[in-house]
Amino acid sequence: MRLVLVGPPGAGKGTQATVLSQKLGVPHISTGDLFRANIGQLTPLGQEAKRYLDTGELVPDSVTNAMVEDRLAQPDAAGGFLLDGFPRNTVQADVLGGLLAAKGTKLDAVLQFDIAEDIVVERLLARGRADDTEEIIRRRQQIYRSETAPLLDYYRDILITIDAVGSVEDISERALKALRADA
Ligand code: AMP
Repeated sequence: MRLVLVGPPGAGKGTQATVLSQKLGVPHISTGDLFRANIGQLTPLGQEAKRYLDTGELVPDSVTNAMVEDRLAQPDAAGGFLLDGFPRNTVQADVLGGLLAAKGTKLDAVLQFDIAEDIVVERLLARGRADDTEEIIRRRQQIYRSETAPLLDYYRDILITIDAVGSVEDISERALKALRADA
């Protein structure tokens, strides 16, 4: 199963990705987590990425795409993966498509977590991560609308939309049911 999760910051993608990756037996690959790990370990990539995460801007595609290419080349991702936070624009989506095509594979589905912006902003304010100040949250939602939301049309042929309001269990059940129905 090769899956991409799409939804606004705060839609619960990370939480769902953890559950779904266990149930589906594929690794959870979060570009945000990869950046944060690099920042924590003070790697050159982390030092480059930090200023973007601090302000809520997207890390440049060249840096992000290279990191994802490396990660997808690792053996555990050969049989499938669940991408969380990548792609975030159509340029990244083109690169991902190219990487997969080169290996003779493609995405099976893109899961959209559908939720109203005012709900996610409230959630993020409650989460309290370093980049969860109101100003940065607003900027990240703006970037989602302008850069990432076009992916919903880009992936329209393989898009599965899930109502992302509800308990963690209800939402993962909806996602698994929709994926089964799609298979
Ligand atoms: P996330 O954990 O998915 O909310 O991502 C946190 C931050 O990491 C984002 O606000 C961006 O600065 C950066 N980031 C994560 N994924 C990407 C990506 N695919 N492209 C560019 N920047 C990203």
